[in-house]
Amino acid sequence: MFDKEVMWQTVSEAARVGIAGHIRPDGDCVGSCLGLYNYITGNYSCEVDVFIEELEEDFSFMRGSEKVITTFPDEKPYDVFFAIDCGDIERLGKAEKYLKKAVVSYCIDHHGTNPGFAGENLIVPEAAATAEVLFDLADPEKITKNCAECLYLGIVHDTGVFKHSNTTRHTMEVAGALLEYGVSSQKVIDETFYEKTYLQNQILGRCLMESILCMDGKVIISAVDRKIQALYGLVSSDTDGVIDQLRETKGVEVAILLKEMNPRVWRVSMRSRYTVDVAAICSKFGGGGHVRAAGCMLNGSVHDVINTLTREIEAQMGQNE
Ligand code: 5GP
Ligand code: MN
Repeated sequence: MFDKEVMWQTVSEAARVGIAGHIRPDGDCVGSCLGLYNYITGNYSCEVDVFIEELEEDFSFMRGSEKVITTFPDEKPYDVFFAIDCGDIERLGKAEKYLKKAVVSYCIDHHGTNPGFAGENLIVPEAAATAEVLFDLADPEKITKNCAECLYLGIVHDTGVFKHSNTTRHTMEVAGALLEYGVSSQKVIDETFYEKTYLQNQILGRCLMESILCMDGKVIISAVDRKIQALYGLVSSDTDGVIDQLRETKGVEVAILLKEMNPRVWRVSMRSRYTVDVAAICSKFGGGGHVRAAGCMLNGSVHDVINTLTREIEAQMGQNE
């Protein structure tokens, strides 16, 4: 059974602690990993390694970002290892070996589809962000401005700036409490969430132009194949925000963004507005996530993938009627 006092006690007795987020890290992943890094290094004497596959330039102002390790060398086992914001063990990517070898491992997460893959697991599906879960675990007296800034960023990103349906009164209260540590809300929101590079805007425009509406305008789909990715030299964060804009189309219930990772292998991102459980759909195909935001991988032509997904959406909508 997860016990927060035992967890901090274990950290206080550890010599080496490892922290890792998920593959294709997003704002909550980076903010939560660095928030925990700052919290532990600020209050405990252990050595801490923090692993994140890649770090977007936008996130480099966060304290601790300069310490992020983007390679995954073979390390001697950690006394304590934290898997952060990972809905399943595969999401840990190359950091999985650290979890397996660690003396004590913790999974701190908020994905309802998480099976609980670590030694100790704290999964809070009601929390809007893993950063919110971490705030609740922390001693408010021990939170510094640097830690608060990271956690605030995590919440801002996973709530789409407090607008997604996962935003609760508690989420707002945690965000409010974090502001009291001196976080610049405007800087975090403008510079890490809304600001886009020219390339990101071009891709957004292209995805909107080439999107297709189906199922009577209830589903919108856009696909970025390998040719387009090569043409623009895209990295994974270049399509951030595209799916949110697709979902804002009037009348749409489900938005789908497809990215071709390998020939005929598609990374699927799904968002819904009010009724469709996209986590249930993605879980059927080995992925997962949240009820209103989830992802998975699918093989085949773009048409195969669209058919597979719309069939599932149709089945759910039929049940909901
Ligand atoms: P995104 O579409 O932004 O990649 O992911 C939406 C949400 O679903 C995120 O919370 C993400 O962590 C989760 N998610 C995306 N892909 C997968 C997957 O393949 N497996 C699991 N378990 N969760 C995923
Ligand atoms: Mn998250």
